[in-house]
Amino acid sequence: MVIEHWVLFVSCFLFLVTCCLHIYLIEHNQEMELIFNRACEVLKLRDFSFRTMQRGEPVKDLKRRFVLGHTSFKTKTVTVDIYTAKKRQSKKISAILAVIAHELAHHQKPPYRQRWRGRIINRIHFPQFYRQVNRNVAKFKKDKVLGEYYSSK
Ligand SMILES: [Zn+2]
Repeated sequence: MVIEHWVLFVSCFLFLVTCCLHIYLIEHNQEMELIFNRACEVLKLRDFSFRTMQRGEPVKDLKRRFVLGHTSFKTKTVTVDIYTAKKRQSKKISAILAVIAHELAHHQKPPYRQRWRGRIINRIHFPQFYRQVNRNVAKFKKDKVLGEYYSSK
């Protein structure tokens, strides 16, 4: 039957496409893990692990704030969204490295409590913190492995 063949062909094709996509995503994740380990090495940070953020659905409104990554002080994990917010395509490695530089800087320049107008506030993103982020990115760019991701495109 011709129709049956056609259906079989289509389902095989779809299967192949999803397989390729799956393998591609796994490779992208593994590459990211290697890059993350290198980033930790460059910054001389130990025992950190990398996770990719599982965002349920794409970000609808890009003008509103949304999280690109987060980190845990307790478990020393850095979680990064490795796909673009809206279209869910693989993000450029240099953009992911920028998020990694930010999240790791939280461990280098940890949050502190400060008295401000009679209240105790938690300072998380303060000037020295941002200086640390820039320093991290500068080190990434200088590194012979990570530097490659900045030179291309
Ligand atoms: Zn932050």
